[in-house]
Amino acid sequence: MSETSPSAETTVAAFDVRMTRFVDAAGTVLAPLPAFAQDPEELRRMYRVMVETRAIDRKAVALQRTGQLGTYASCLGQEAIGTATGIAMHADDVLIPAYRDYAAQFLRGVPAESTFLYWAGDERSMHFPEGTPSRHDFPFSVPIGTHIPQAIGVAYAFRLRKQPRVAVAACGDGATSRGDFYEAVSSAKVWNLPVVFLISNNQWAISLPRARQTGAQTLAQKAIAGGIPGEQVDGNDVIATRHVLERALAAARAGEGPRVIEAVTYRLHDHTTADDARRYRAEDELEDAWTRCPIKRLRACMATLGCWSVADEEELEAQAAARAEAVAQAYFAVQPEMPQAIFDSLYATLPTALGAQRAEVMTAPAPQTEH
Ligand SMILES: [Mg+2]
Repeated sequence: MSETSPSAETTVAAFDVRMTRFVDAAGTVLAPLPAFAQDPEELRRMYRVMVETRAIDRKAVALQRTGQLGTYASCLGQEAIGTATGIAMHADDVLIPAYRDYAAQFLRGVPAESTFLYWAGDERSMHFPEGTPSRHDFPFSVPIGTHIPQAIGVAYAFRLRKQPRVAVAACGDGATSRGDFYEAVSSAKVWNLPVVFLISNNQWAISLPRARQTGAQTLAQKAIAGGIPGEQVDGNDVIATRHVLERALAAARAGEGPRVIEAVTYRLHDHTTADDARRYRAEDELEDAWTRCPIKRLRACMATLGCWSVADEEELEAQAAARAEAVAQAYFAVQPEMPQAIFDSLYATLPTALGAQRAEVMTAPAPQTEH
């Protein structure tokens, strides 16, 4: 068809998806930093949280490998997203997390030993402490994506009560291929709810690579079908991730409706300790991903800005290792709960059949082993 021919088709809608990054993988500052990042103390604070989270994560894996913890999902490589989330959210917002959002949970008051208890199968791990923001958060969801529509209920309650609060629903890349995600995105816009959908795109859904999971060019664009703004951020740049989250939270709080943020990152560990990614992932891909490590990136950035030294690093490494060890000791100090506990958080009134099973386990010998 020549340029002058009339066309039966016209463009009725066009979209673009933006990506935000302030600091590149080498730690070079690419654009003027947001105000919070011009304060060296804020940079050090974010760095400290990421390093401590990694130390605790490493300890959890070590405990699992030595038979002292159940299956564990590591957040290695994704520390920036949790850190940015925990700092960006207000205390009375509600976090509806996926697993691997540990840093956000720690910042909101979940004791790290509770996270260890969770992976040891202890029901008490989800009793978050009174007086902390985590108290009204959800425990993280192991089933993929089923928690995302629940964020709609939370955000709808905020709207009904006219409260300036925001629900943050965190999920992985795999969850965005599920109906739950699309249903939530669609309803969030229809009801103009204060909810932020935060996707940690770590490139793998267990053993399924991103490219085989969805043909979408970005995951952020999955927002567009629901009429919601969707954007990408470099999820290994903690400054950028915090910036876009704070912007989305402020918009949602101001009544401007929901947002989808795709934080692009990489899962540097196996899916869980029950997985061995060497069976399906090329070694050079992993090596390449390590060059974009969020901790290394912020450290290089701070060193360039003159607010981090070798002595600072050594001191923090020692503090983080001591904190991880203290978490392990606090976990060991908890007496195992009785086996009937598995029944006690499921129903307000236990069905008869389960009641009989509960009575049966109560006659069993008490647990003899430590964690
Ligand atoms: Mg994933």
